[in-house]
Amino acid sequence: MMFETNDDGGGGRPDSSESSNRRGMGASLRPSSAARRFLLAVALLLWLVVAVRAQAYDAPSRLNEVARVYSLGIGEVRCASPAEWQADSHSSFQWGYTNVRADYTVLPPLICDGALNVADAQFSAWQRALGTLVLVHEAFHLRHWRFRRNEAKVECQAIVYFTEAAEKLGASEAEANNLYPYALAWHRWLTQRFSWYRDRTCVIPPWIPPVP
Ligand SMILES: [Zn+2]
Repeated sequence: MMFETNDDGGGGRPDSSESSNRRGMGASLRPSSAARRFLLAVALLLWLVVAVRAQAYDAPSRLNEVARVYSLGIGEVRCASPAEWQADSHSSFQWGYTNVRADYTVLPPLICDGALNVADAQFSAWQRALGTLVLVHEAFHLRHWRFRRNEAKVECQAIVYFTEAAEKLGASEAEANNLYPYALAWHRWLTQRFSWYRDRTCVIPPWIPPVP
């Protein structure tokens, strides 16, 4: 889960660098005034397209409020629409990513829906647990601390704060506890498959079985 990118090359969206390249090319052609007006119109249109696309994502306040607790107020969590996520050049990071230079996280619909509906039993428990876990994980990438680029340390914090975060997102204490085994299962799945998520010094809180 939980991937980050730190090879963002300046942190801008691909669109904005593309449009500035085009402007640069136009200037070198020394166009006539009609052509210049045409290029200006094209540049304006491109700028509008970029501006509209840049505002198309959603940044739900509840996710951002909870993420800021763990990022210590830094960064923004964005929820991509299905189309945006499909078009995102980083969507190979299946469960979301954080741009650690520009301080923002992008999450796919699966993860946002899970985190936003943590208390809604109509969503599967695994999805609600995964959404919460990924949100906290990415928040620790946003936080400016010495281990923000260390997947193992970041993932350790995500599992440590899982139940607390689930409650902050709106789950009851009992529901957060019910979801915790799913979070543990995801954590185990991830750390067993990808060694760089494994922190052998991580102290994972035990699951406390409910008293019947
Ligand atoms: Zn990560």
